[in-house]
Amino acid sequence: MTWNGEARLAEQWGRVRARLQTEVGEVEYRTWLKQVSFAGLAGDEVVVMLPTRFLRDWVNKEYGDLIAAFWQQENPAVKRVEFRTGVPAAARPAAPDLAEPAPAQPALAPQRPETMAALDQRFTFETFVVGKPNEFAYACARRVAESPAMAGFNPLFLYGGVGLGKTHLMHAIAWELSTKPRGGRPVSVAYMSAERFMYRFINALRSQSTLEFKSELRSVDVLMIDDLQFLIGKDNTQEEFFHTFNALVDAGKQIVISADKSPSDLSGLEDRLRTRLGCGMVADLHATTFELRYSILDAKAQRAGVEVPPKVLEFLARKITSNNRELEGALNRLVAHANLFNRQVTIDTAHEVLHDVLKAHDRKISIQEIQKRVCEHYNIRIAEMSSARRARNIARPRQVAMYLAKQLTSKSLPDIGRHFGDRDHTTVMHAVSRITDLIAQDAAFAEDVELLKRLLEN
Ligand code: ADP
Ligand code: MG
Repeated sequence: MTWNGEARLAEQWGRVRARLQTEVGEVEYRTWLKQVSFAGLAGDEVVVMLPTRFLRDWVNKEYGDLIAAFWQQENPAVKRVEFRTGVPAAARPAAPDLAEPAPAQPALAPQRPETMAALDQRFTFETFVVGKPNEFAYACARRVAESPAMAGFNPLFLYGGVGLGKTHLMHAIAWELSTKPRGGRPVSVAYMSAERFMYRFINALRSQSTLEFKSELRSVDVLMIDDLQFLIGKDNTQEEFFHTFNALVDAGKQIVISADKSPSDLSGLEDRLRTRLGCGMVADLHATTFELRYSILDAKAQRAGVEVPPKVLEFLARKITSNNRELEGALNRLVAHANLFNRQVTIDTAHEVLHDVLKAHDRKISIQEIQKRVCEHYNIRIAEMSSARRARNIARPRQVAMYLAKQLTSKSLPDIGRHFGDRDHTTVMHAVSRITDLIAQDAAFAEDVELLKRLLEN
C-alpha cells in the first residue's frame, strides 16, 4: 500500500467535502455527510470512515457515487471509495482540516449552476451496453438527446428496478445535450434527483426564495428528475413539481423522469401528476438477461484493460443476476484484486474474492426451488427428484435439476446429491457432464435448459 502525501490529500478531501456540501445542500450534508472522515489513500482507493455501520451503509448507498465522482475529479488516481466503520486515528483532533470542510472554492472548481448535479463521467451513451432488456429505453433516450421536446417523447419517463441503468441513461442524455449544442445556442439542462429537488424546494421556502427557485427551474430547456418515487407522500413538493412540470411542457421544454415504477403504478403520486407523466413516452428497463450481463462485463473488463477469461465472465454473469450495479461492483473487486496481487483472474480467484457476494446470491435460489421449476416444466411429480426410478422421462429432468443446482448455487456435489434422494456425488458429476454434452449437441434442449435457468434467475 502506498499512502500518498498526507497534506495534499487532506486538502483534496477538504475540497471534496466542500463540493458535497454545495451539491446536496446544508440539511442533507449535516444529516449524513458531516460525519464522514477521511482515512487515507491506498493504491487507487480512498478509504473513508463513518462512526456506525448504519451510517456507513447508508452513506455508501446514497452518496457513494457522488463522493467517488468528486474524488476522481480532485485526484484522477482515485478509482474507488471504500467505506469503513470507525474513526480514523488521523481524524481525531490533530487534523483540523479534516474536522470541518474547507469553504467552497469557486476558483478551483468551475461553478456549476445550482440546477445541475454532478454528472458521472462514465455514464455516457458510449459506455451503455445495449441489449434486449434496455434497447427500447436506450433508443428513446437517444432520440430525446438528439431532438429534445419532440412530439410523442415529452415527457420521457424511464422506469425499472434498482441498478438497471436509469441514472446512467439520464446522465448520458444530459452529457449529450450539454456538450454537443445544436443550432448555435447551448441547451441548458437541469438534472437532479427528486430528493434534491425536494431539499432545494424546502430550502427555498425557508429562505423565502421560492420565486428564484421557480424561475431558475423554469428557465431551463431540459429538466431531468431522477428517482421520482421519492416524492411519494411529499405533497407540497409534488405540488411544486407539478406546476414546474406544466410550465415547462407548456413552454415546449423537454422533461425526463426516472422512477422505479411506471406512472400508473406509482400510487401515492397525485392522479393529475401521474396522468401527465404517462402522456409522453414511457419506456421500461427490464431485468437483465444473461447475454446482457455478459456483454456489460465484457465491455467493462475491456475498458479497465484487464484480461478476464470468458469463463470467468460467464461465471459472474450467471451468478450475479440482481442488477448491473452489483455486477459491476463484483468485476471491480476482481480487477482490483488481480492488480493488487498481480495475479490472473480465474474462476478460483473469483470464488475467493467474491465469496460474500456469491453467497448472498445463492440464498436466492434453493435446490428445492430448482426442483420445483424443473418438475413443473417437465410435468413430473416432485417426488421423482428423489425417487430411484431411472426411466428416461424421469431421469433426464432429474439430471437437469442437478445440473442447474450446480450452476446456480454454490452447493457442493455431495450436498446436491443429498437433495436428490441421497445420491452419490459421482452421480451428480455424471449428470452435470451429461447435460453439458447434451447442451452442446442439441440446440432445442439447450434452449430448454436456458429457459429454465432464466426463470429461476428472475
Ligand atoms: P439505476 O439508476 O437504474 O438504479 P444505474 O444507472 O445507477 O441504475 O446503474 C447502476 C450501474 O450499472 C452503473 O454503474 C451503470 O453504469 C451500470 N449499468 C447499468 N446498465 C448498464 C448498461 N446497459 N451498460 C453499462 N453499464 C450499465
Ligand atoms: Mg439511479
